[in-house]
Amino acid sequence: SLAVTDRFGPAPRRVTRQVRIGQVAVGGDAPVVVQSMTNTDTADVAGTAKQIADLWRAGSELVRITVNNPESAAAVPRIVERLAMQGVEVPIIGDFHYNGHQLLEREPACAEALAKYRINPGNVGFGKKKDLQFAQLIELAARHGKAVRIGANWGSLDQALAAQLMDENARRAQPWDAGRVLREALIRSALDSAERAVELGLPRDRIVLSAKVSGVQELIAVYRDLATRSDFALHLGLTEAGIGSKGIVGSSAALAVLLQEGIGDTIRISLTPEPGGARTQEVVVAQELLQTMGLRAFTPMVTACPGCGRTTSEFFQELAQVVQEHVRGRMPEWKITHPGAETMTLAVMGCVVNGPGESRHANIGISLPGTGEAPSAPVFVDGEKTVTLRGEHIAQEFIALIDGYVDR
Ligand code: SF4
Repeated sequence: SLAVTDRFGPAPRRVTRQVRIGQVAVGGDAPVVVQSMTNTDTADVAGTAKQIADLWRAGSELVRITVNNPESAAAVPRIVERLAMQGVEVPIIGDFHYNGHQLLEREPACAEALAKYRINPGNVGFGKKKDLQFAQLIELAARHGKAVRIGANWGSLDQALAAQLMDENARRAQPWDAGRVLREALIRSALDSAERAVELGLPRDRIVLSAKVSGVQELIAVYRDLATRSDFALHLGLTEAGIGSKGIVGSSAALAVLLQEGIGDTIRISLTPEPGGARTQEVVVAQELLQTMGLRAFTPMVTACPGCGRTTSEFFQELAQVVQEHVRGRMPEWKITHPGAETMTLAVMGCVVNGPGESRHANIGISLPGTGEAPSAPVFVDGEKTVTLRGEHIAQEFIALIDGYVDR
């Protein structure tokens, strides 16, 4: 076996059964899929369709919407129809809690329009009705030929199962700590529900599992365990990750560890949007996580230095941002006209200390002048210095060089 220091790159992906969700494959040899969720009232057809389209344009390959009442269930087929008319081809997942069996039964058009149903085994129903309602949901999925995500969640853990495992634990010679018992309850909730779904007639290759918690270490422990106990495709996400940088850092920390170990077939970054913030941020973060880890490529990535006392202005930071936004904006077109452009690397650097070196490592890079340096910005293409830009139009000229590089 390799010494730790000899290892490079992620472990081989865990072998999972591939699930088709509409036209998107999850698991097996499919790349790790990016998904997101709307926060509109689903009964608002125009508003929900617009947000789904925005998420899809940002790169979301699956979009989940809440279906919580008869109005939202009735809106689902109209949303899907509207998206199709706009050429938005993204499978839609319905998120159901408590009344999903009734909504899907009463609205067959909703049941048909959705590509997948998300069922939380902790929120299927109460008491004796729970098993019946779970069976009804699974039979509906089987009848309509849909995939199902069985998504257990720390915040809505099956209380009866948790109590049963607590009792079992009390009889152990060496009882587990409470955290381990609760993690086991979460995992068992997902696994037992999946096996029950199979017994009820849902094929194994239509089941995706998740078991989400809001703590980074707990999430890693839960998924490591889950991954060894079944070959169902796994949906990863840190639930209730939080707002702003906390949500991004927490999600990235947890998901990066698991992805590095080959665990995870689809990811969602659950960010609480900052007031006025774009919902699409969660898609950008998910893509950047996968791309910075070298697992997928979505858009050319810009390497930029943080800047320091050697930089005379914030121009280079602005340029890094302008360049990243420019290439991200061009990517939908380049995807069709220049496949492979998404793997291009760019560098925007603030001075001669690391500028030329980092720029040489990129496909195309620029080293801007720092304090005391000549007012010139050498550009490097595939490791060779090609031209030096000067004056007020450096940004436009550098962007033209990037476009020219893609076009050549
Ligand atoms: Fe500072 Fe230059 Fe390093 Fe950028 S490359 S952080 S400007 S020393």
